[in-house]
Amino acid sequence: KVRVRFAPSPTGPLHLGGVRTALYDYLFAKNRGGEFVLRIEDTDTARYVEGAEEYIEEALEWCGIIPDESPKKGGKYAPYRQSERRDIYDRYTEQILKTDYAYLAFDTPEELDAVRAEYEVKGDVFSYDNKTRNRLKNSLSLSEADVETLLLNKTPYVVRFKMPVDRTLNLEDIIRGKSSVNTNTLDDKVLVKNDGMPTYHFANVIDDHEMKITHVIRGEEWLPSLGLHTLLYEAMQWEAPQFAHLSLILKPEGKGKLSKRDGDKFGFPVFPLDFKDPETGNISKGYRENGYLPDAFINMVALLGWSPANDKEILPVEEMIKEFDLHKVHKAGARFSKEKAEWFNHQYIQLKSDQELLIILRNSNLELSHISDEKLIRIIHLMKERATFPKDIYENGKFFFEAPISYDEKAAKKAWNEETSTILNELAITLEKNESFNAEVLKQTVHDFAENKGLGMGKVMMPLRLALVGELKGPDVPDILELLGKEESIARINNAIN
Ligand code: GLU
Repeated sequence: KVRVRFAPSPTGPLHLGGVRTALYDYLFAKNRGGEFVLRIEDTDTARYVEGAEEYIEEALEWCGIIPDESPKKGGKYAPYRQSERRDIYDRYTEQILKTDYAYLAFDTPEELDAVRAEYEVKGDVFSYDNKTRNRLKNSLSLSEADVETLLLNKTPYVVRFKMPVDRTLNLEDIIRGKSSVNTNTLDDKVLVKNDGMPTYHFANVIDDHEMKITHVIRGEEWLPSLGLHTLLYEAMQWEAPQFAHLSLILKPEGKGKLSKRDGDKFGFPVFPLDFKDPETGNISKGYRENGYLPDAFINMVALLGWSPANDKEILPVEEMIKEFDLHKVHKAGARFSKEKAEWFNHQYIQLKSDQELLIILRNSNLELSHISDEKLIRIIHLMKERATFPKDIYENGKFFFEAPISYDEKAAKKAWNEETSTILNELAITLEKNESFNAEVLKQTVHDFAENKGLGMGKVMMPLRLALVGELKGPDVPDILELLGKEESIARINNAIN
């Protein structure tokens, strides 16, 4: 059975790349009838950010990417927080130390700094690896007796991976295909820190094994670790999962990784939800708070690096699940586009019923309590076509509640001349006589009126619109008349002529 995991570190809010990884995990798992696990990788206490885990869970929930197993939900392989899995790691630390793939290293940070400085003087870069390890303070270079003494004296140590000498590793990635790496280019990574906690590499491999993960989907920044991870599986004599490394999400201009700063600079959200930096107090903008619909948002995210068959763009999540294929994920980086994000939101607003949009507006932070459901629904019906965000429906439809107090100057120049007042006055009288004030009838009335007077439609419609709206925008004039009602419409016309 397919099992995938999303394994974020709680070092800050979930960014767009993280959401995409989680989404691909989810789509892949559901496509294969498998399970999707959320695991919090919090072994690095120095980088831990308060509230980040809650943020991640809330963000996934908002996106509708619901894990089958998670710290909150529990599951067969609990706990799902690495900080709570220490006894499991201890067991495996003991196990790997019995193999030829790991050793103890007693070098203090100061000692390592000194060695590093020595190399720098010679213009070299130091690396703790199979060429240097014999000169350093570890259980490979020291005598057994010396190691014994160090341990008796409680000298702090780390566990390092013993990278084999000159082996070519053949690696495979679902998206990128085959590649190879020589172990001489890899260093002896720390597996367990001096506080006994495993590093990312070791804990990650242990947990993927323990949790029976079949496919690892993650960002391409982890590709350089694939050699080490493959060897860790070998050392532990475990079967490795399959890997898929996702390319970066690029800046709108196409060069470089999309960053938080791009959002601040160009005014678009980069996080699913608002995030308040606990250190600076600065708020980075989120999609939710900016009026994005979660289904539009994840549709946009899904297509950053994947195209379904016949390049369909609008795919509700069920359809994404049906179509998702890791083999069709792009090798090249995907360019983020704010305009495209807005386009998706606009499209999804059109897919919503008026009733659904009513609920969205009622749940938003707009002050709408003075407007009845019935009226709001009618406004939604008329205004949604032009809306990118739900709030646009209200903001572009404000004239339905507030009569214009001034008239757009440019529009007035275009729509108004000496005859206009007389024309509108006569039109008001005609409209007054209309018994039924519905759009269909009103359209005919205005039409007949213009014809009788021998006027072009524009000569009547434009100033009428200006009188009702204050500018030359909005839905069809008969629709506006109907919604405003007879009394209000005529009052606005009279107001404009006087
Ligand atoms: N904790 C790692 C991260 O934050 C997980 C990487 C992986 O999926 O292996 O990106």
